[in-house]
Amino acid sequence: MSYKPKNLLVTGGAGFIGANYIQWLLNERPDVYIVNLDLLTYAGNLENLNNLPSPDRHTFIEGDINDGSLVERLLREHSIDTIVHFAAESHVDRSISGPGEFVRTNINGTYVLLEAARQYWLGEQKLDKATLSASRRFHHISTDEVYGTLSESDPAFTEETPYAPNSPYSASKAASDHLVRAYFHTYGLPVTTTNCSNNYGPYQHGEKFIPTVIRSCLEGSPIPIYGDGSNIRDWLYVEDHARGIQRTIEAGRLGETYNIGGHNEWRNIDIVRLITEMLDKANPEGAPHDRLITFVTDRLGHDWRYAIDAAKAQRELNWTPRESFETGIALTINWYLEQHK
Ligand code: NAD
Repeated sequence: MSYKPKNLLVTGGAGFIGANYIQWLLNERPDVYIVNLDLLTYAGNLENLNNLPSPDRHTFIEGDINDGSLVERLLREHSIDTIVHFAAESHVDRSISGPGEFVRTNINGTYVLLEAARQYWLGEQKLDKATLSASRRFHHISTDEVYGTLSESDPAFTEETPYAPNSPYSASKAASDHLVRAYFHTYGLPVTTTNCSNNYGPYQHGEKFIPTVIRSCLEGSPIPIYGDGSNIRDWLYVEDHARGIQRTIEAGRLGETYNIGGHNEWRNIDIVRLITEMLDKANPEGAPHDRLITFVTDRLGHDWRYAIDAAKAQRELNWTPRESFETGIALTINWYLEQHK
């Protein structure tokens, strides 16, 4: 059975993935109406929403997911049937220097949203189980980092891999995943969760790895690489993530988690070499850009390798990524070159 969201509350929609999702969704689903709740922390940027298709189907609300009465009011005023929860503190380095905000937003904020959905859908609207399952969704966006780290020879993470988070960021996301699961099992809230690998693409905050590499090249400044650059991540183009989220909302089984990943394992150093080579052609005045590579002291507790087995999403949701790393990174570099003009 296919679920059709109508009125969505998207949290964190002024951030990287949320803004890409909203752009994509407004294009792909002409019937949806979106309320976008975002606190506009350092990571949120209203400019990410400047070029929305049909902006009349999008309302921006500046506010905190920890504000339960605001969230309940938005659910009621906009007859929200679907919550898509992106809002989070998302940068591992910041979680090492200041974990408190990660606990507040990622754990408590998720709890407040779940509780508001429970109060509105079960308490106020008094929906029975069948109506709730057929007409409401709470979709939680999570990360593959909850599974911990892999060695070179380990198989990729599946949905059955035990949780073993290593940073305050991944621990806070793991805790939020458990709360979402508990609201399904305890209260019957119609939830789904996706655990995704590293994303890249337009609108990503400049502090993250790929924007840092591209910006450093364009500015002619050092490209910082942790350790010896041999850490491995599994990369996914952000629009493929948006499609994976929507497939899960529309066709995923309630209470299930789905791994979303690009089958694109790359060592950090190889990504830098690929980007510098591509920019040598696109931006010849800065060539050779690999002269800017600078190795810096490794991150504390730096996970060695992440890799996602997305077979369940492929099997049950018929989802596979459309972009390879080479095609996605070309789109991303072109976007940054446009911004840099
Ligand atoms: P981001 O940091 O770019 O954006 C986060 C957004 O949330 C910002 O707009 C910020 O203003 C908003 N926000 C923060 N605290 C808030 C609060 N208390 N109330 C309301 N809004 C608040 O993050 P992102 O990279 O777009 O990630 C989005 C989600 O996807 C996160 O849950 C993250 O854990 C998950 N995820 C990210 C990646 C990745 O590679 N970026 C991979 C897998 C999963």
